[in-house]
Amino acid sequence: MADVSRVQSALLGWYAREARDLPWRKTRDPYAILVAEVMLQQTQVDRVIPKYHAWLARFPTLGDLAGASRADAIRAWQGLGYNRRAVRLHEIASQAVAAFGGKLPRSVDGLLRLKGIGRYTAGAVACFAYEQPEPMVDTNVRRVLSRVFGIEPAGVESMAASVIPRADAWAWGQALMDLGAGVCRVSQPLCLICPLLHECGGPRPSGGRRAPAGEFRSSNRYFRGRILDELRGLPTGRHLELDALAERVEGRVDLIHALAAEGLLEIDSNRRVKLPE
Ligand code: SF4
Repeated sequence: MADVSRVQSALLGWYAREARDLPWRKTRDPYAILVAEVMLQQTQVDRVIPKYHAWLARFPTLGDLAGASRADAIRAWQGLGYNRRAVRLHEIASQAVAAFGGKLPRSVDGLLRLKGIGRYTAGAVACFAYEQPEPMVDTNVRRVLSRVFGIEPAGVESMAASVIPRADAWAWGQALMDLGAGVCRVSQPLCLICPLLHECGGPRPSGGRRAPAGEFRSSNRYFRGRILDELRGLPTGRHLELDALAERVEGRVDLIHALAAEGLLEIDSNRRVKLPE
């Protein structure tokens, strides 16, 4: 299993440099974070951002939302789809006003008392609003933790809390989200630019299983495949520095040149490597 403290430090360092600038990361208002989480559950980030601002302008607090009609909530949800979510938010607001004086509870157990809030959303509010070391395991987070720690996806839920850095739970949760969304993708993860490559071991079949062990992992065939997999996974137009690529594949510069000679990749005069056009 990967070393937990090294994974924490590598991921938090990467997040400090690469974090996406998202509006719900600038607040600790639990209601605003709840709104963002519910919107993000079935809608892309780019589409959520304007709707998030508009919703909070229309209903700035839980009390404002509870005081509006269900029809108002559904109207304000226009353009987001899956309208049942608007009704769910409205019901949560009504319950929070009736049971908690218009505030959201701080604990996961308290949040789960509100009908419409499940384990993922409760964890997200507890972590992102109250900065508590609570896990929130969605499909992205499950995939990242499964790959990094080499465990089956079904086992992630029960181990996720144990790897949270207690002093940096908020950033850890956000970093897992970003890594899962942009780097550790479902197919063709961008392992070569991943901050966890050295801890994780690099590309492997999906589903959390480790790449072939033993002899195969030191064979030319393995490294040739790995070099090409990494180039294949790069966004269009991106190159990799030859030295950086070599470092990530245990110094196998010979294989990079061999692949170039075979026409499977190109190395330009600035020692940048890419797939052939
Ligand atoms: S090295 Fe690859 S598989 Fe491992 S976490 Fe990074 S992108 Fe995912």
